[in-house]
Amino acid sequence: MRIVKTIKALRQILDEKRRKGQRIGFVPTMGYFHEGHLSLMHRAKKECDCCVVSIYVNPKQFGPKEDLSRYPRDIKRDSAMIEKENVDILFIPSDNDVYPNCYLTYIDVEKISNSLCGKYRPGHFKGVATVVAKLLHMVQPDVMCLGQKDAQQVVVLKQMVADLDFPVQIRVVPTSREKDGLAMSSRNIHLSITERAQAPVLYRALKEAVKRVEAGERSSSKIMAIIKNTITRFSSGKIQYVACVDAGTLEPLEILKGKVLIALSIFFGKTRLIDNVIILIKKSRKV
Ligand code: AMP
Repeated sequence: MRIVKTIKALRQILDEKRRKGQRIGFVPTMGYFHEGHLSLMHRAKKECDCCVVSIYVNPKQFGPKEDLSRYPRDIKRDSAMIEKENVDILFIPSDNDVYPNCYLTYIDVEKISNSLCGKYRPGHFKGVATVVAKLLHMVQPDVMCLGQKDAQQVVVLKQMVADLDFPVQIRVVPTSREKDGLAMSSRNIHLSITERAQAPVLYRALKEAVKRVEAGERSSSKIMAIIKNTITRFSSGKIQYVACVDAGTLEPLEILKGKVLIALSIFFGKTRLIDNVIILIKKSRKV
């Protein structure tokens, strides 16, 4: 695995690989790896000859009161962890390379950036779209792998890629979970022992919702109430939002139909956790 720290060096290496006809797979991350990140790398390597992983804690996607300074960083740990994962290039650009002093250009994927997480994190998806667009220009991959864990990010980035004609295919990889159901996240290390013990409630609540939908419940408000009750009954987590939306457009649904995204964001102390499930509701045939 080569560790590359400048855009120029990255371009030279990747130009050479492309000349040899190699397909490039790309996994953008903010580092502090866990199994979820590794599953994206496996997917990229499975489809492509060369797997490029970036680590960049993007300041533009953190609000002024958010956790940029306490976001976990450990490049030594990360590079050791992926040494055995068949990653070809670990790209770690500097702040100065990504956002030089004169930086002025942003990408705003309208509407779908402003609901769900975006409602509570203004500017977050503008930062995400901007940095991913830049990384796509730097790496020019054939395939980019993203995690379903960040469902809104997937929708926003798919829209950006379509709108701006990026020649990349997006692959969405299922959420990796701990044995007790908690979605893996770099932020989980901030949870206290009590919070960690309670955090699986997010997935428990989502599974309860799925069970009710499978049993025939179609009222979005009822499903949201079930989720909220489960969270408050079994944990001290503070609910930021629970939502049932169309998985493609992120439009809120009153009556559940089609491909439904049930998403939530819960605070345990200062740590914000998100999770989601997608359910496909088949049309019942009228007789
Ligand atoms: P991050 O480093 O948190 O920005 O995440 C980098 C990529 O890994 C994003 O595409 C995330 O959606 C994905 N990811 C994060 N957590 C998980 C997880 N538990 N399972 C699958 N993918 C994940």
